[in-house]
Amino acid sequence: MFEDFPKNEIEFDRRFRQEQDCLDYLFSQRWPDGFVCPECGHPHYWKSARDLYRCRHCQKQVSVTTGTIFHGAKKSLILWFKALWWFSARTSGVNAIALQQLLGLGSYRTAWHWLQRLRTCTVFPDRQPLTGKVESDEFYLGGERSGKRGRGADHKCKVAVAVERQGKRLGRLRLSVIDDCSSAQLLPFVKAHVLSGSLVVTDGWKGYNGLERDFIHHRVLSSQAEEKESVLPGVHLVVSLVKRVILGTYQGRFNPEYLQRYLDEYVFRFNRRTCAAPGKRFWRIMQQAVSLPPLTNRQLRFRTT
Ligand SMILES: [Zn+2]
Repeated sequence: MFEDFPKNEIEFDRRFRQEQDCLDYLFSQRWPDGFVCPECGHPHYWKSARDLYRCRHCQKQVSVTTGTIFHGAKKSLILWFKALWWFSARTSGVNAIALQQLLGLGSYRTAWHWLQRLRTCTVFPDRQPLTGKVESDEFYLGGERSGKRGRGADHKCKVAVAVERQGKRLGRLRLSVIDDCSSAQLLPFVKAHVLSGSLVVTDGWKGYNGLERDFIHHRVLSSQAEEKESVLPGVHLVVSLVKRVILGTYQGRFNPEYLQRYLDEYVFRFNRRTCAAPGKRFWRIMQQAVSLPPLTNRQLRFRTT
């Protein structure tokens, strides 16, 4: 894939001045080798309007935005591109209130829908499983864990975490909402995100029993939850960072229904934290935006909290 993206915001603003600039860019990203009919795969077309292509074989008429997250966009593509830029290029992203104000959008709901759509673009189908030494654990969001260690806490959101350790440094991260802390939830999570045969470090929780069948399983035993910092230092650090973002940005008023999307966005940023080119993050999200089937507003299910 040809890497073509503005390196910074100045370049972005210079490049995308009019609707046509956005259409041209979408065309080059969606059809890098030339037009391909999404219906029948035919490469030849008639251009019937500024952004309408009619397949010479099956006669289907498509726009460069058909079947992308920009599908049926009622707002200008320039606004969409700007939203995508802020979402992907800025280190801490942008929330719906800020996006509404920055773009002068009429409603909070529109900004919210756009951000939800962009969040669905942060998980890449070709991403590689974690390898090497991986710490795994689970944590709670939506209230402090009280009393001594117990993994019930039914009213809180439970999240499984796995993070690579490279010496003292952290590598890549995965986060997933789980129903409970049983092995029926934890083992599939680790298997889905860590290459089999890797070294997986957990605490002594019985939910991790059975990991030794697919991994080198190292348990760090500790009798007290307070010692988590020394038991699984990588996990401890990640969890405090995630809590700060999720609880700070949303003041803890997040809706559990959408938590996985926020976690996905967090993981996307975390795994690219050392990438010096903000435009590359923009480009990666754009790749997904033109290749993933779009979700309708109904599927996104707007809620105010
Ligand atoms: Zn066709």
